[in-house]
Amino acid sequence: MTTAATPEQPADVVARLRAAFRAGRTKPVAWRTDQLRRLRALLTEQGAELAAALHADLGKSSTEAYRTEIDFTVREIDHTLGHLDEWLRPESAPVPAHLGADASAWTQYDPLGVVLVIAPWNYPAQLLLAPLVGALAAGNAVVVKPSELAPATSAALARLLPAHLDTEAVAVVEGGIPQTTALLAERFDHIFYTGNGAVGRVVLRAAAEHLTPVTLELGGKSPAFVDRDADLTVVAGRLARGKFLNAGQTCVAPDYVLTDPRTAAALEPLLKSAVETLYGADPQASAEYGRIVNERHFDRLSGLLGSGHLVVGGGSDRADKYIAPTVLADVDPKSPVMQEEIFGPILPIVTVDGLDEAIGFINDRDKPLALYVFSDSGATRERIAAETSSGGLGYGLPLAHLTVSDLPFGGVGESGMGSYHGRYSIETFSHRKAVLAKPLN
Ligand code: NAD
Repeated sequence: MTTAATPEQPADVVARLRAAFRAGRTKPVAWRTDQLRRLRALLTEQGAELAAALHADLGKSSTEAYRTEIDFTVREIDHTLGHLDEWLRPESAPVPAHLGADASAWTQYDPLGVVLVIAPWNYPAQLLLAPLVGALAAGNAVVVKPSELAPATSAALARLLPAHLDTEAVAVVEGGIPQTTALLAERFDHIFYTGNGAVGRVVLRAAAEHLTPVTLELGGKSPAFVDRDADLTVVAGRLARGKFLNAGQTCVAPDYVLTDPRTAAALEPLLKSAVETLYGADPQASAEYGRIVNERHFDRLSGLLGSGHLVVGGGSDRADKYIAPTVLADVDPKSPVMQEEIFGPILPIVTVDGLDEAIGFINDRDKPLALYVFSDSGATRERIAAETSSGGLGYGLPLAHLTVSDLPFGGVGESGMGSYHGRYSIETFSHRKAVLAKPLN
């Protein structure tokens, strides 16, 4: 009789990785760069397998899967490989006179130990692999937990990562709440969580037991302010592209538009034609348009379609988890669509009487993950930059700030804490150790 192998328990996984870390396995820079090159090879050689999984989970087109997940991660790896020596270089600090001229001081980056990365379902490959790149580059052992709501991608990652990376120091644990809860009971040296704020609080509570530092990459409603001076054809095209990518299931998607009534009236038909330009008259038939992740989110989003009046879209098909790219005008700030992060292909337009009211509207709500401003007025831009707080700020182009590897990506307040990408991942996944040296004679 054969018995199925029992999956390794979270406690055993963590103990095994900790032993590898203690033995110094992950610390040499050569080991780190080797792991990054192996991950790069996985993405370039088995990218099609991941793209197929992303299509199965989210109806992502291959072009979108490569652009926003696979090639995105390859770029992050290349940027890291190109700069790692420079980022890890100890930095000397001036020494005060009372320590003598022969004393010196510097900082050095130490790996933290065993890191846990918990990823969401919306960019289920990128949002697991980009933190993994940083954690490995900083010399840590890493447990990654893909989202159970993107099961094909989770399975592909669980198959591919151990086949390419050092299994003594990198482990994939699949599963939902029970498995994540079991993992969170273990002691980690850092937890990196991407997802919603309710679970973010669960993670933070569990981390407190072990005094484990945490990065929380959360979401929220990211506003897009459109000024009356803006070129509205350009604005409509960029808003539609940023909003309807991945069927609106993007943490930094413009959640809603804030503008004055005259600009709103001019923008509405332009948004309608921008949607048609992107996806044709029937977006359900377009290979470039994605699907809602599951029925639960489909039902949640269907309940938000009734606010305001319809500019374009509004259609849906539960069997196909399809919700049309939808723009809603004259939306009351008290309506359901304005009470929660939409996280789907619905763009409400809320009118305000100008910049002062827009700033007030933004500041009355949680600090957003991203804030977009479409204005050519330097004064308007400066006022928004100075008078609001958000994880990131984008002038004229949604989403793009997170593709700049030298910018930190993260939230503030309800949209999260901590940041990553490029050298900021090294900051997140390392301890910056202070060193002072004084010769004995
Ligand atoms: P999700 O449901 O996949 O959850 C994320 C992870 O948390 C999963 O791995 C899941 O297994 C785990 N989890 C769920 N419930 C848990 C529990 N009770 N205890 C422990 N672990 C649990 O994804 P989601 O939260 O629906 O993702 C969408 C949210 O994430 C949105 O708010 C979005 O804005 C945000 N988001 C933020 C970023 C960012 O980079 N800041 C990126 C993508 C998504």
